[in-house]
Parts: sequence; C-alpha cells; structure tokens
Amino acid sequence: MKFLESRPRRGRARSATDRSETRPLPELVACCLDKLKNSGVLDHALNSPIYHDSWQEAGIDPAQVRTYSDFIRIPFMTSGHLRAVLADTAPADLAGDTDVRFWISTSGTTGKPKWIPVGEGDIANIMAAAKRMLSMAADPGEDLSFLALGAPAPFASESWIYLAFAVFFRENRATNSAMFTLPELMDALYFARKLKSRTMYAFPSIAVLIGENVAQRAAGEAALLFRKKKNLRNFLAMAATRVIHVKARHVFRFRKGLFAGEPVPPYAKALKQSFNLEAFAAYGSTESAHVAIIECDRHQGMHVFLDTCLPEIIPEAELERERDDPAYRPHAIPLWEAQHGLSGELVLTTFAEAFPLVRHRISDLVRVEGTTPCACGRTHPRISILHRSDDIISLGLIRFSIYLLKSKLEAVSINGRIGQWRLRLTREGVKPKMLLEVRSERPAAEAALRREILERIDEIEGVRQARENGLIAAPEIRFVEEISDTRGQSGKDRLVTYEPAYFSGD
Ligand SMILES: [Zn+2]
Repeated sequence: MKFLESRPRRGRARSATDRSETRPLPELVACCLDKLKNSGVLDHALNSPIYHDSWQEAGIDPAQVRTYSDFIRIPFMTSGHLRAVLADTAPADLAGDTDVRFWISTSGTTGKPKWIPVGEGDIANIMAAAKRMLSMAADPGEDLSFLALGAPAPFASESWIYLAFAVFFRENRATNSAMFTLPELMDALYFARKLKSRTMYAFPSIAVLIGENVAQRAAGEAALLFRKKKNLRNFLAMAATRVIHVKARHVFRFRKGLFAGEPVPPYAKALKQSFNLEAFAAYGSTESAHVAIIECDRHQGMHVFLDTCLPEIIPEAELERERDDPAYRPHAIPLWEAQHGLSGELVLTTFAEAFPLVRHRISDLVRVEGTTPCACGRTHPRISILHRSDDIISLGLIRFSIYLLKSKLEAVSINGRIGQWRLRLTREGVKPKMLLEVRSERPAAEAALRREILERIDEIEGVRQARENGLIAAPEIRFVEEISDTRGQSGKDRLVTYEPAYFSGD
C-alpha cells in the first residue's frame, strides 16, 4: 500500500501551496478524466450489482469510455436505486470481485443502516481526501490537536475519521487527536479542554448545541467546584459566572472547526459567537469518503477537488422538466463548464474500487460559486449547498421522507382531519423548524387537533429525540383558511417550501 508523502511544512502560509491545487483548470480537467480511466472505477462498477443491469441495458462498455462525451452515455444512478440495491444485496456480493479490507457503517440520510465496503485501493484515497480536508482547517507546519465528535444513529455517523488520524500517524506528524460520540460527548469536551484541542470536527448543529450546554452548565459547574474545594480561586470563578455570561469560547481553545453533514452558513454566526472559531464547511458522505469538498479560508464556496471526483450538475431547468415528465432524461453539465450562480442537483463520480459511485445523483441542490481561480490561489471549482432536491425533509441531522410525514398526517383522525397542508422549512435561531400550515376540516377542535398532529409528527424516528435535545425547534402548527401557492413552475403541488431563514439562520 502506498501512502501519500508528507506535505512540505512552509510555516504559516494559508493560501494554496501545493502545485496540484493551482494548476490551470484545463489541466485539472485532464487529470480528472485520466483518473476516470486509470482508476478502473468503471470496470469495478460494471461488476457491481448497483450498475450491472442498467449498464447492460444501455450497452455501456468501460473500454469505450474515453472522453466526457462517451461518459455521458452512462445512465444516472439515483439515491433511491442505491438504497434499494443495498437493502436487497448481501454484503458479500456488494463489492463484486474486489478484496474488501473493512466495512464502514452509516445510518445514512434516512436513518436506515448501510454497510459500505472499503477495498485495498480505497484506503490511500480516503486518507488523502481526509488529509486534504484536515490540512485546510489546520495551518501547515502546526501540530494538529484535533477533536472529532461523531453522533450515533439515527444521526449520520462517520467512522472513516479514524483514517484521517491514521494518515498523520503515518507521516509522523505531531497530532493529539480524540474521537467521541454521544452520549459521552459533554465529558469528551471537558477532556478536550485538558488536551487543549485546537481543531474541532463536528456536525454544526451538534457544535452549536454544545455551545449552549456549556453556557447553561457553567454556573452550576463552578459552584460544584467551589463546594469541592473552597479556595479563593474557585470562589472567584463561581462569582464570575454570575456576572459574566460564560460562553464555550471561555472554556475551550478551538481555533478552527471543520463542519459537515449539514449546510454550515445558518450556523456560522452562532459558532463564531460560542467558540470564537473559524468555521470551514465540508461536504461528504460515507459513500463518498474519497472525495474532497471543502471551503478554503476565503470562504467563497467549497472547492471540489477534481483529482478526487468527477462532479456534474443537473441544472434546475432540467430538473423541472423531469418533474413535469418523469420519463424525461435530464442532461447534466460538468461542473467546470457551469456558469457562476447556476443551481442544480449535484452528480458525483468517485474513483473508488470497492464501492464506486458513477454518475450518482446526490439529491442535494447546489449552487456554483465559481470556476475561475479563487482568491486563495486554488483553481478547483467552488460550490455551496442549498437544500435537498428530492422528497427528503432535512432538519439538519434528522431526515425523513415526505411520504412518511404524509402518512402520519393522514392518520390524524380523532380530533378532526387535515384537508390540505404545506410544510414550510425555516429556523428558530439556528435550529431547523417545521412550520406546518394546515387547513382543517373541523376547525372547532383546533387545540386538540394541534396536539394530535404534534403527537403524530413525534412518531417519526428521531424527531422527538432531536426536539427534546434541542437539535431542532419545536414544530409549529398554523391553521389557515386556505393554502395558496403550493404549485411550482411545473404546476405540481409543492408540499415543502424553504423560507429564507432556512438558508441563513435568523
Ligand atoms: Zn479558495
């Protein structure tokens, strides 16, 4: 196995220092297309039960795929198809003829566990992507003191972070890292305080929640400390918490944070206030751990590193046509040819071995932030994440199908019935919030009906837990005379809409 060599230490330079990150875009594109051929990803995919049937039907022969125009003959692979194959396939059959080194489990975006195989050839690539992301959020040459916070199901989990640690061990770089998950998360933070961790890796909503908890617990903890040891120092600390509003930044010394799993902009201000850290948004999933997509210190979108994936975008106009006519096959354009400001669904191809993603429609709506060189010097194009483009309702870490919500609302029957509804996704502070507009058929029993609806919503896996733990705001039910504007451009009902606050936070 070959591991990447150590990146040269060059003091505190914060811009791109690596030549592979500043090459002209056409060179990066050539490198991307070379990897598509030389990584063998298409041959691996052909043997995978995920692609085998649809590729045969479309007559795809990996040996004939030489250019991007050959590549676009390959059919898209959707998240729904992927879920169905994973549910029906024995793990041993999933990786085709690849030797699997280990498996990574993830609860996935909808809470259903998935097992993702990692092959021999994948390990170095995952480590390289992890290293790239961590290096972006840590000054080169500086010792890496790193705290990773995971989360158990029904939240997404990311066990591949261990590979990120391993890459620094291999390079003999000074690191001081720890990884924790709920429920020992708060204890972990006090441990991190002793370690003097400088970089945090977490879901942004979890980090904000920690910030709130620290503020709430600070006074009690100081009093406890004073009761244990009654000295002047502890007395002053206790007294101070009564006059100073203690924030997480008074307790911890994080300088930077690497955040993924949810769009970061709504949380950025709260993270700055709580921890006084610089937040770096990253994007990824367990299935695409080979791919490096992360913000630089100019914070003008996340760089999509073209030597780790082949990114494409299905423009919104094409998605709209597909909504009108489900038989329509939308066209994608490569990210490097997309115009600044274009929004559409992200389509990713990885260069993986055991679990290749080829033209995978990620179901996330993104915006192109630029394909010209960034102020940091890097030439890899930049994107930002807007929201889901499919039928998944995303409340940050809690995600569920709109059809699940629909079935819960249809089951409401004791205190009246719901004639029509629309879900507006917004935020209360930074917390994702469901604002459900309801036209009821028996408006007289509103209070009881409201309670019944809320109970039904609470039955959705993870919702009650997230609400009680303060990860999401309590849902609000608003009774209305009529529900207008539920039709999109295509004239179809839009049951879910996004409010401006959803993107920015209050
Ligand atoms: Zn940049």
